[in-house]
Amino acid sequence: MKYSFYPGPSTVYKKIPDYVKEAYITGILSVNHRSPEFAEVMEETMKLLKSKLNIPKNYEIVFTSSATECWEVIAQSLLRSKSYHFYNGDFGKKWFQYTKKLVPEAEGLHFDLNDELHPGTLTVPDDTEIICITQNETSNGTQVLNKTIKAFRVKHPDKLIAIDATSSMAGIALDFKQADIWLASVQKCFGLPAGLGILICSPAAIETAFEVDGNIHYNSLVFMLDNVRKLQTHYTPNVLGIFLLMKVLEERENIVSIEEKLKIRYQDINKAILSVNNLKHLCSKEKVRSTTVLAIESNPKIIANIKTNAEEEGLILGNGYGKYSHNTFRIANFPAIPDSDFLHLAKFLKNFASSTDI
Ligand SMILES: *Cc1c(COP(=O)(O)O)cnc(C)c1O
Repeated sequence: MKYSFYPGPSTVYKKIPDYVKEAYITGILSVNHRSPEFAEVMEETMKLLKSKLNIPKNYEIVFTSSATECWEVIAQSLLRSKSYHFYNGDFGKKWFQYTKKLVPEAEGLHFDLNDELHPGTLTVPDDTEIICITQNETSNGTQVLNKTIKAFRVKHPDKLIAIDATSSMAGIALDFKQADIWLASVQKCFGLPAGLGILICSPAAIETAFEVDGNIHYNSLVFMLDNVRKLQTHYTPNVLGIFLLMKVLEERENIVSIEEKLKIRYQDINKAILSVNNLKHLCSKEKVRSTTVLAIESNPKIIANIKTNAEEEGLILGNGYGKYSHNTFRIANFPAIPDSDFLHLAKFLKNFASSTDI
């Protein structure tokens, strides 16, 4: 038995094999994606996403294949002049770079991973159309708080705000009404196999999409919106992924309860990790630390040692990302990972802490 704490692709819900079987038996995998049977699954999945994650009723949801695809859709379908990116890690930076290739005017500001963003003191160029923020930076275990996003909204009521919440959506209670475009993929906090992206748009974002009216890409947002309004998709979608999302959401509690439980578990994991000498959070400022992805730092020898020892016990710790690949490991605190897996991890850490060969 292996226990994976990798922050994506991550441990999937235990019931996935049952749901796959159910999808097969119901025949949904073989029906046309313009059929009433598929439309029903689409409708129910979107209804559940809105009710379980507390997404405003007037926001619209479209499915893509990945979060990366959502980055491109935003650049192609919503941007005319310029986006402005705040980033402190690799995913935010990649989003900025992808956008810049399509829209060279895009600008960005790198901030330190221990800094809290203060929108009041930050200037954004006037001709910015979209402010882009990575809410949960999976590469370094930091997050941008709901209230910070709200402060951006208050300061820039005329601009759209786009949020990458790939490793936090469905794990924490996001304040959806404070931004216009939210993106994620399902292999992180949703506890599902990869291959499905989710893009959530406010009425203002939708209005912009129709104004821009881009139609030269297969995934132009207006095509997607026109189709989703008929509970269809413009290409054959990941029907299994959508069905699994529906089934998982049916059984989930509201995000507010899920967040509460994850935050308590976060404290327990913290305690277990920090009891080991020489391990500390990469981000020293607790306020901006992610509660869904923990990045733990030490010297490369200890990191390698702890990963190897953990693996011998069947515990897979996430590798550090990018420039932190040797001096950190990462732990996902995602809802689909059972509490019992974390008990194994805590026990391992306790033994490791008391061993003499650190
Ligand atoms: C994983 C991740 C992505 C990329 O997701 P894909 O579904 O692989 O495209 C983008 N942004 C963040 C913050 C991520 O954690």
